[in-house]
This record gives sequence, C-alpha cells and structure tokens, in this order.
Amino acid sequence: RICGAVDRERTLAMIKPDGLSGNYTDKIKEAILESGFDIVQETVVLLDAERASLFYAEHAERSFFDSLVKYMTSGPVHAMVLERHDAITHWRALIGPTDARKAKASHPNSIRAMCGLDSEKNCVHGSDSLQSAAREISFFFRDAKSETVEHDEL
Ligand code: ADP
Ligand code: MG
Repeated sequence: RICGAVDRERTLAMIKPDGLSGNYTDKIKEAILESGFDIVQETVVLLDAERASLFYAEHAERSFFDSLVKYMTSGPVHAMVLERHDAITHWRALIGPTDARKAKASHPNSIRAMCGLDSEKNCVHGSDSLQSAAREISFFFRDAKSETVEHDEL
C-alpha cells in the first residue's frame, strides 16, 4: 500500500451549540488534526426545528426528542467532513460515550469529557455507520462527491 492514500473514509463531525458557545472550536479542531484526520469540508449553520428534527429523525419517538431539538436549535452548529483511514470508528472513539458524565469518569481524554455536560449536552456529534455518514454528509453538504453518498439509501 502506498502513502495511505487508499482506504480513506469520511465521517460527519459536528460541534453542537454548547461546544460553539463554550468556545471549544479551536481545541476540538486541534484534537481532530492531531488524530490524523483531514477536515475536507466545513460549515457553520443555525438549524431550525424542522432541520434538527430531520437530522435526528431516528430518535423521533424517544422521550428526550423535544428537548434534543430545542438544544440543537439553541445556537449555530459547526459541521465538518473528516477523512482518514477508519474515520467513523476513530472519530467515535475520540469523542467518547454519549453521556458526558460517563466520558469524564471513564474516558478523561475524550472530547466529550473536555466540553460536554451530561447525556444531552455532549458538545459533539459523530456518525455511527457508513450509511449514517453518507446521509449526514449530504444533509450538510449538497455538493458532496458522489463517492461519499454511494451508500445513501434515501
Ligand atoms: P450519540 O450522539 O452518541 O450517537 P445517540 O444517537 O444515542 O447518541 O443520541 C443522539 C443525541 O441525543 C445525543 O448525542 C444527545 O445529545 C441526545 N441524547 C441521547 N440520549 C439522551 C438521553 N438519555 N437524554 C437526553 N438526551 C439524550
Ligand atoms: Mg447517534
């Protein structure tokens, strides 16, 4: 294999409103670059309730859904397409568990331990599969290269 140019994968990372309002963007981007990801696209946007609900559609029936939508629309989010070998798995490992209290207790070097608060306000998002990465990248980046959406069933 030459230069690691093959087997690169893309994932969708997002700094949530609490990450932006807490001024964690630079620290999070530092951790991203130190971990060998390239940031290939990025955008800062304010989601409305309809867009936030669509992004988290898989959780529509959960008891925390209304609160989640309120949180995700409380300020801008910073979406990034990250690329490296095994990007999805590596980014999920770097952000740590969903509940930031658990992250602080058992994954102290994770991003959610650094800037998260609890099981809702956990400052960052990461795609959990190839399918969700493709869907979430095209959610924010309409001009995504076709290879990033080839697994998209929608
Ligand atoms: P992850 O973001 O780690 O993939 P989930 O997909 O399970 O976690 O949940 C999506 C988001 O919904 C979480 O990041 C968090 O903001 C919120 N959330 C998840 N579980 C809870 C919960 N029990 N109470 C409140 N908010 C939650
Ligand atoms: Mg999830």
